[in-house]
Amino acid sequence: MSDPIRPIGPKIIAVANQKGGVGKTTTTINLGAALAEQGYNVLIVDLDPQGNASTGIGVVPQDRDLTTYELLLEDVALSEAIRPTAVEKLAIIPATVDLSSADIELISNEKRSFLLHDALRQTAIDQFGFDFVLIDCPPSLNLLTVNAMVAAHSVLVPLQSEFFALEGLSQLMLTIREVRQSANPSLRIEGVVLTMYDARNNLSQQVEIDARDNLGDLVFQTLIPRNVRVSEAPSYSVPVLEYDTNSKGAMAYRALAQELVGKNARRAA
Ligand code: ADP
Ligand code: MG
Repeated sequence: MSDPIRPIGPKIIAVANQKGGVGKTTTTINLGAALAEQGYNVLIVDLDPQGNASTGIGVVPQDRDLTTYELLLEDVALSEAIRPTAVEKLAIIPATVDLSSADIELISNEKRSFLLHDALRQTAIDQFGFDFVLIDCPPSLNLLTVNAMVAAHSVLVPLQSEFFALEGLSQLMLTIREVRQSANPSLRIEGVVLTMYDARNNLSQQVEIDARDNLGDLVFQTLIPRNVRVSEAPSYSVPVLEYDTNSKGAMAYRALAQELVGKNARRAA
């Protein structure tokens, strides 16, 4: 593999949408794996108490003694919380169900919105040399998601190509605006990616038209197709890029990674 083009990162990206089941975790794992395959150092931060990203990438429960919970609430050092994965250049900070109480425990903490920022922003990039940090957010606009947005340079929004896809987006955009006003003025929207796209289905096509009409250039050209290999991969604890390297899903996530890198290279130029 050739050396990646360098001058784009380092980038911390929150993968967020308060709807469940839209492809946040799938996108975090597979975009992460695709960026790693292209030569970048990638860290996934599992910020969902369901821990699906951790499971999907093969971190067994016994290996989750230090997690995002300890990182946020017990001042555990980043170096102790980071686990390697079976994928080269791809590391993860796992999550367990413990994180479900964090939202409430954080309320009384005066730095409640900045805990992930403080844990991640300098060290992840300077000390560990990650080019990309992808934060898998929970299906909610709670304090955990706010922590992700405060820590991040940008927000990547997966949108399921189904009826009501755009509903709820204004709430998400409002939260992004509030975070900009209060804590992270330079937070940008990395883009919106249509997931589970079915080209034979009129509904998918209509969602794409609506999304491009409403959001313009924010919508990635790359469409992630509905592909059974994508949904099978997590039960084998690997990204689809390893599970079925030539599948449509794997190719789509490689294209998304390239598009993301290209966009950022243009911005940096
Ligand atoms: P979220 O993290 O937003 O809740 P997930 O990434 O867990 O969503 O995806 C929800 C479900 O849809 C999972 O069962 C996942 O395997 C499946 N899925 C996601 N993307 C695809 C795809 N491109 N093709 C087929 N199934 C998918
Ligand atoms: Mg998820």
